[in-house]
Amino acid sequence: MSSKLENILAAACSHTDEVIKPNVDAWNEAGVWPRDASDKAGDLGLTGLYAPEEWGGQGFSLGDGIQVYEELGKGDGAYAFTLSMHNICTYATCGFGTDAFKDKWARDLTSGRKLANFALTEPQSGSDAANMYSKAVINDDGTWTINGAKAWVSLAGEADIYFTVVKTSDEPGHKDMAMIAIPANAKGVSFGPRYDTPSYEFLPLGEMHLDNVVVSEDNIIMGVGTGLQGSLMAIDIARVSIAAGCCGLIESALDTALAYSKNRKMFKGVNLDLDGIQWMLGDVATDLVTSRLLYKAAANALGTPEGPLLAAHAKRFVPDAAVNAANTCTQVMGCMGLLQSYGMDRLSRLSQMLRIVDGTTEISRVVIGRALQKRAASLPDIPVPKGFGEK
Ligand SMILES: Cc1cc2nc3c(=O)[nH]c(=O)nc-3n(C[C@H](O)[C@H](O)[C@H](O)COP(=O)(O)OP(=O)(O)OC[C@H]3O[C@@H](n4cnc5c(N)ncnc54)[C@H](O)[C@@H]3O)c2cc1C
Repeated sequence: MSSKLENILAAACSHTDEVIKPNVDAWNEAGVWPRDASDKAGDLGLTGLYAPEEWGGQGFSLGDGIQVYEELGKGDGAYAFTLSMHNICTYATCGFGTDAFKDKWARDLTSGRKLANFALTEPQSGSDAANMYSKAVINDDGTWTINGAKAWVSLAGEADIYFTVVKTSDEPGHKDMAMIAIPANAKGVSFGPRYDTPSYEFLPLGEMHLDNVVVSEDNIIMGVGTGLQGSLMAIDIARVSIAAGCCGLIESALDTALAYSKNRKMFKGVNLDLDGIQWMLGDVATDLVTSRLLYKAAANALGTPEGPLLAAHAKRFVPDAAVNAANTCTQVMGCMGLLQSYGMDRLSRLSQMLRIVDGTTEISRVVIGRALQKRAASLPDIPVPKGFGEK
C-alpha cells in the first residue's frame, strides 16, 4: 500500500472517530446535513478522491480511493454513501466535463466547498431507468431547456449542482439520453417536501422539479446518446462504494457485539464463551472477510470489461451480509441490542437502505443472471437425454 493511500485512509479513520461517530445521532435528531462535517472532509481530501491533482484532487485510482468508504462506513453508511456520490460527480467533471465547466466547478467540487449529486430516478422510474420523462430541448443558441421531475434525490436542496439524466426526444428507450449538470440556483429549479427517513434524517431526500430550466451547453457531461451509458458507469462505481461502506458497517456491528458480549455475565461465564454465540459472530466475521475481498476485486476491475459483473456481485452480496450482520449482532446482545445508544437499530435500517439504493439486490441478480446466460451459450451442449420432459 502506498504511503499516500495509507495517509488518506488514516484521515478517513480520524474523520470517522472524531466527527461522524460522536455526532451522528445529533445530526439525525437535527435533520440537517452537517455541512461543517463535509467541509472538514473536504479539508482532508475526501471530496476529490479520483480527481487529478491539477484540479485540486487526490488522483487516486478507483480501486484505491474506494477503500475510503470502508473507513467512513464504520461511522455512518448514509454519510459514506453521500460522499461517494459527490466523488463520482467530481470524477465525471474532471473526466468528461467541458473545459469551461471544469474551470468553473472542478476546484470547488474537489475541495468540498461545493457539493454535487446525481439525479436519475423519477417518481415513475427507479430500476426501470429508461422509463423517464424529464426532457431537454436543445435551443438554437446551444442552451438546453429542461422540464421534468427527479425523485429520491440525495442532498436535495443542499447540493450546489445536480448531474441530471434527461431525454432529448419523445422517442422511447435510452438512445436519446444525456447527462447535464444543473446548478441548484438555476431559475426554475425547486425541491419538494423532504421524505421522512428517521435513520438517516440528516441526509435530505426529496423530489427536484425542473420547470423551464435553461442551462448552458458548457454543462453537458455526457452528450446525447451516452446518458444511460454514463449513468451505468457511475452506478457501477456507486455499487462498489456501497459495498465498501457496508464492510465498515459490518465491522462496526461486530465490534459492538463483541465488546458487549465479552462482558455480559451468564451461566457462570460470559456471553462470548457460549459456542452458539461464537458461531453466530464467526459467521459475521467470515462474511466480513469475504465482503472485503469481493469489493476490492470489484473496485480494481472498474473500467475493465469485468467491472460491471463484479460490481453486481459486490452489490448483491455485501449489503445482504450487512443486513445479516446487523440483525445477528442485535440478537447476540439480547434486549440491549435494541437500545438506541448502542446504534444497532440504526445499522439495521441503514443496511436495508443500502440494499436498495443505486441498483437493488434484485437488479444485481438480473445482471448476474444475464452473464450466466452468456456463459451458458458459450459452453458445449449437454443434451437432455431422450425421453426426459416428453410425454
Ligand atoms: C437513501 C436513498 C438515496 C437515494 N439517492 C438517489 C439519488 O441521489 N439519485 C437518484 O437518482 N436516485 C436515488 N435513489 C433512488 C434509488 O436508486 C432507487 O430507489 C433504486 O434504483 C430502486 O428504485 P425504486 O425504489 O423505484 O424501486 P422499483 O424500481 O420500484 O422496484 C421495486 C422492487 O422491484 C424489484 N425489481 C425491479 N426489477 C426487478 C426484476 N427484474 N426482477 C425482480 N425484482 C425486480 C426491486 O428490486 C424492488 O425490490 C435513492 C434511494 C434511497 C433509498
